[in-house]
Amino acid sequence: MFTRRTKIVCTIGPSCNSAEAIDALIDEGMDVARLNFSHGTHEDHQRAVDAIREASRRHKKAVTILGDLCGPKIRAGRLGGSRVVVAGDALTLMAGDEAPPGVVPVRYATLATDLRVGDAVHADDGRIRLRVTSIDGPRLNVVVEEGGTLRDAVGIHLPSGNLQLDALTDKDRLDLEFGLAAGIDYVAVSFVRSPDDVRRVREFCEAKGRVVPVCSKIETPQAIDHLEAIVDVSDAVMVARGDLGVEFPPEQVPVLQHRVLVCAAQRRRPAIVATEMLHSMVTSTRPTRAEASDVANAIFDGADATMLSGETASGAHPKLAVSMMARIISAAESSPYWQPEPPPAHARPMPFPEATARMAVMAANDLDARLIAVFTQGGDTARLISKERPKVPIVAFSPSEAVRRRLGLLWGVTPRVMEPLKDTDEMVESVQAHLRSSGMVTPGDRIVVVFGAPISVRGSTNSVRVHQVGP
Ligand code: PGA
Ligand code: MN
Repeated sequence: MFTRRTKIVCTIGPSCNSAEAIDALIDEGMDVARLNFSHGTHEDHQRAVDAIREASRRHKKAVTILGDLCGPKIRAGRLGGSRVVVAGDALTLMAGDEAPPGVVPVRYATLATDLRVGDAVHADDGRIRLRVTSIDGPRLNVVVEEGGTLRDAVGIHLPSGNLQLDALTDKDRLDLEFGLAAGIDYVAVSFVRSPDDVRRVREFCEAKGRVVPVCSKIETPQAIDHLEAIVDVSDAVMVARGDLGVEFPPEQVPVLQHRVLVCAAQRRRPAIVATEMLHSMVTSTRPTRAEASDVANAIFDGADATMLSGETASGAHPKLAVSMMARIISAAESSPYWQPEPPPAHARPMPFPEATARMAVMAANDLDARLIAVFTQGGDTARLISKERPKVPIVAFSPSEAVRRRLGLLWGVTPRVMEPLKDTDEMVESVQAHLRSSGMVTPGDRIVVVFGAPISVRGSTNSVRVHQVGP
């Protein structure tokens, strides 16, 4: 039986927010549902959460919900219509929602004090390029280097290193508070620039009494500068190629994607590759060859999950997009060229859980085991085994529904329910019974079981037991 290892993240939006549409996405392979707080109301998101939870019960599949905060996205204010600008034009920008006639308002209060002469200003996803020529009190004078059409509320990027932005805006706080109450399983943080940004989100969650794992979206030059430190304090990362591709020239995006994936592998964090993966399927029933290659190459490059954005949220063929992504992943993973490898050891001496995960994977290889079964209290052991990239599936048992839902994002991991058990013999018996009744093993199969002794203590993972399934 083939099990797809790489997970699929689908963004929920108007094209898929009915119960039937969510059902269809799960049928086709959605593992993680992403709520994008840049769009929609809390009522919309609550409806989506309810539909996902209900469908996930029907399918007996733990679907992970990722709440994605918009972060400090800077936008133009009201221009009173659109305005075409061409290369060579001189323009003036000013902070605010409105500006005097002819001046472009930008919703960023310290615009004129944070930027320097020579800094770049990008608008409309990088299509329009401006450069600061002089600063005159509150007026930022720029020259147009690449023209286009400015519209109300168009997205503005200020790649300057001096911005005074809080990674958690007032809107993000409201959205996160809503998300925590609604039961999101991960929070994704946009425009992270430092490890402190991640810590602040965690502190906010702690203050609200519900800590969820944090996924840092890597999409700014500052995040690339502090990549290792940011990954160290994050539970997961996303290669957010949309904004990354505005802040950096296009040729840098594949290089940076590889760099983030290598860093996440070393640090044993799951990594999502996001944005425009099957972009043409927003309108078309088929992807381009380049898009199909992009998904497969992300997998060859070590991605834990690949993401659909507009394809599922607002596209014409959400169901087809997911099934196409699943087909591309399955073809890549079934090919002889797919040889996932364990990353090098990160810290020496290795912590016990990491060494135990490596032992389990080595044993599974040597024994030609059918699968690795793991008992995980908080999900960490399953994550460590996942990042060792075993050749066989990982079945992760946990009594906690919240933990099982987090496991949905992890490469190669199938979450299953199991109540806590008294001793290890009883545990192996229960695992065997569960795996046999669900058809995952047959008598004679060898399996590797990973757990902590004494059992049911978080962080105690220290044991690998090998077992042959009885008649
Ligand atoms: P976004 O993030 O869709 O929230 O902007 C993803 C990206 O920038 O690629
Ligand atoms: Mn983004």
